[in-house]
Amino acid sequence: VKKKIDLHTHSSASDGLLSPSELVDHAVANGVSALALTDHDTVDGLDEALEHAGRLGLEFIPGVEFSVEYPRGSFHLVGLHVDHAHEELLEALRELKKFRDSRAERIILDLKSCGVDIPLDDVLSEAGGAPIGKPHFARVMVRFGFAANVEEVFLNYLVDGKPGDVKKEKIELSRAIGLIRKAGGIPVLAHPVSLEFASFRELEDMIPGMIEMGLEGIEAYACMHTPEQVDAILDIGRRHGLLVTGGSDFHGDGKVEIGSYGDGRKFPAELLDELRTYRMKSAARRI
Ligand code: AMP
Ligand code: FE
Ligand code: FE
Ligand code: ZN
Repeated sequence: VKKKIDLHTHSSASDGLLSPSELVDHAVANGVSALALTDHDTVDGLDEALEHAGRLGLEFIPGVEFSVEYPRGSFHLVGLHVDHAHEELLEALRELKKFRDSRAERIILDLKSCGVDIPLDDVLSEAGGAPIGKPHFARVMVRFGFAANVEEVFLNYLVDGKPGDVKKEKIELSRAIGLIRKAGGIPVLAHPVSLEFASFRELEDMIPGMIEMGLEGIEAYACMHTPEQVDAILDIGRRHGLLVTGGSDFHGDGKVEIGSYGDGRKFPAELLDELRTYRMKSAARRI
């Protein structure tokens, strides 16, 4: 049996539904042998996940996922193998959490002005101390009967100029890349299709500038990507000497399977070997 890996997942430390320990259990139960937890703008789930993975003998990669300033679509930057006790990284994450807190208040007001009255306190307790994300709002809105399920919320609210679509302040790409690297991690451009580029040419033209800033990897294998997009992004990554990664972006909400990038597609096992080799080489370079 082919070993399964997954280099992009979420827990309840951000907007996922499973606790870090439950995520690790779920990965093991589904035959995943190497897992990265990459929560949105937080590393708070990593201690628990690391400890639990250690008990179960699962190879665990501490990670994080930044939402980065970008004029359209959404730009997500994953950091793999970050030192989650790095003070400068923690300070930046505290700052981003404050941005999300203030956006939450504005989302409440915006929804209210459109007739959707939900209490901020319910959203806060839904988040349970995690950086507040739109999925926390969506779950509360379902509970209050504004939609049948979370999917339906995202069709009518919180996105694309609809009620509750309030932009959050985000971190600059160069700063996010720098923080990940200072914390010993590998910065990876996540699911590049979310950048909403008009052509692969346009994506490719952006890559050298990002490499200049310190980008080291690209997530070619992602649920968001069609098979053609996987191939094209893989090709771009290889030609520019980037580490190629893959992840499910699992949130525990039943939309995607852990250890797969959709439709039962499994990540090539070489990705993990390449990550290991890359890490050894870059550690050697730092000495
Ligand atoms: P935020 O980081 O608070 O801006 O929220 C973005 C998060 O909302 C993403 O990471 C997803 O987990 C979730 N999300 C955004 N759009 C959708 C959608 N159309 N359907 C389901 N979840 C979504
Ligand atoms: Fe999310
Ligand atoms: Fe993402
Ligand atoms: Zn993600």
